Amino acid sequence: MKKLIITVAQTGSVPTREKNPYAPLTPQEIVKDICDCYERGAAITHIHARDENLQPSQDPKHFKAILDLLDETDCPIIRQLTTSGRIFKTFDTRAQVLTLKPQSASLTTGSVNFANFIYENEPALIEYLAEIMFKNNIKPELEIFDTGMIQNALALKKKGLLKEPLQFNFVMGIKGAMTATPKNLLHCVEMLPPDSVWQVSVVGPAHVQMSTIAIAMGGNVRVGLEDNLQYSPGVLATNVMLVERITAIAKACGRDIATPDEAREILGLS
Ligand code: ZN
Repeated sequence: MKKLIITVAQTGSVPTREKNPYAPLTPQEIVKDICDCYERGAAITHIHARDENLQPSQDPKHFKAILDLLDETDCPIIRQLTTSGRIFKTFDTRAQVLTLKPQSASLTTGSVNFANFIYENEPALIEYLAEIMFKNNIKPELEIFDTGMIQNALALKKKGLLKEPLQFNFVMGIKGAMTATPKNLLHCVEMLPPDSVWQVSVVGPAHVQMSTIAIAMGGNVRVGLEDNLQYSPGVLATNVMLVERITAIAKACGRDIATPDEAREILGLS
C-alpha cells in the first residue's frame, strides 16, 4: 500500500475567532500552524486566505503574504491554494490565485446545493480553471461533492485537460451533498480510473470513522478546521490535534505516512 498523504485544511472560509479561538486566520498564525502540522505528519496544506478584517479573500496578495512567510521557514510542505467560489463568483476572481503558480489547487467539477446556498461551478468555469492549471503545470485536486462530479472530471481528462494520476477529494457529510457513509465511499472509489489518487474530507463527527476506512483502503485523508471545528462532540479542535489523531490511526493500522517529497512523487508533481 502506498504511503498515506495527510492534507491539512487550516482555515477555510467559515471558521471565526468566535466559533473556534484556535482557528489560524492571520498569515502569521496560518504559517505557524502549517509548520506545526507538517511536523506531525501533514504533507499538503490546503490554503484559504483572509483580508485585514479576517474576512475570506481570494485576492492573490493575501495568499502571497502566506506563501512568502512560508518561504522564510524550512517547511517543505506542498502548498495547495483554493479556487473556492462560496463567496467569489466571477471567473476572474476564481482564477486569480492561480497567477501565483502554486504546485496544487482545488478544482470542483460541478455545482451542489449546500444547506442554504448554491455552490456554483458551471461547466465553462470548470474548463476555464482546468485549462489555466494545465498550462501552468498546477495539479488540480478534483473536489467531488457528488458522484456526477466524478463523471465531469473524467470528461475533462478525455478533453486532455488533466494529467495522470488524477487526484480526487471526496467531500462528504455536507448538508445537501453526498452523505458520509462507507457505501458512498466505496461507490466513488469504484468509479475512478485504476491509477487515481484519492482522499476523503469529511464534515461532521463521522470524519474519524470515514478517515479510518480510507486509511485501511489505501486512500488518503484531509483534516482541518475548514472541515471540522470540533475534535469530538463538545471539544474544540486544533489543526495539530486533528493531524495527530490521523497519524496515530495510521500507525495503529500499520500505514506509513508520506513526507511532502514522497507525496510529490505519488501525485506526479513537478
Ligand atoms: Zn477549501
